[in-house]
Amino acid sequence: MSFLESKVARLFLSLYRAATLRGAVEKAAQSVHADLLPGLEAWTAVPIDVDEVAKTRRMVVGPVLSSETCAEGRLQPTRDGFVFSVRADSHEHRRRFSIAHEIGHTLFYEHGEGGPRHRLGLLSKAELKAEEYICNLFAGALLVPAVVLQRLVPDAPVWTATNLMRFAERLRSTFRVSRSVLMNRVADVFSGHPPRVVIEFRYIENTRTKQDPKLRAVGSTGLGPARGRYWVWANRTPAGMNLDSVNRMFTVQMEHSPSFCARGYVSTFPSQRE
Ligand SMILES: [Zn+2]
Repeated sequence: MSFLESKVARLFLSLYRAATLRGAVEKAAQSVHADLLPGLEAWTAVPIDVDEVAKTRRMVVGPVLSSETCAEGRLQPTRDGFVFSVRADSHEHRRRFSIAHEIGHTLFYEHGEGGPRHRLGLLSKAELKAEEYICNLFAGALLVPAVVLQRLVPDAPVWTATNLMRFAERLRSTFRVSRSVLMNRVADVFSGHPPRVVIEFRYIENTRTKQDPKLRAVGSTGLGPARGRYWVWANRTPAGMNLDSVNRMFTVQMEHSPSFCARGYVSTFPSQRE
């Protein structure tokens, strides 16, 4: 079954009367900002107050999830709405994303006398996966509204690697999202970007063996024509990708500013003369 053939995807397209999943996701994200005046969407206040949006979706905060669970969030329908939980040890950006993702799940419910009911009832594994995917897209679109991103970047910036990084780091704090969420939204909203892959590295242990700390890829985003066609497996080291320059720059940076390195390290390629 292709993803777009899933019942969940077809339901989502029909709910938001859109021809494409991306179109439906943007419409869904706008629809939950209930107090927005039509035409003024681009002036939506950011960072988005996800806790407020959750309240308008009849979601109340439940007990936090322990760090032992692998789930980032959980949503439970009740008679009056929903109880949602997020992990106690989540970073603020992650917590915001988890809440936005759970808000996405509420879109698949309808409210009846006995409380909210999933519009499709019990779902198969493949359908559940499809819903998860849509909720992730929705969370990005809710936290980084396309119209606001376009307003903040009115003229197509010169997309050199340095400009892209500067622009992304600034907007990341404006929207209070992780680098990967911001980059994915840049990729979605500015599809005319020249082909490039942005890889985020961190100095961490091997995620499988829990040993051997090294600079390792934690995420990647393809921009422009590279969108969806090129990515990097998490955990890989720059040496494993023949990106020796990244290792060399990291060593220099480590000597000068260890605290910067602890926060993370970002590089793009193909490298570009600027
Ligand atoms: Zn989920």
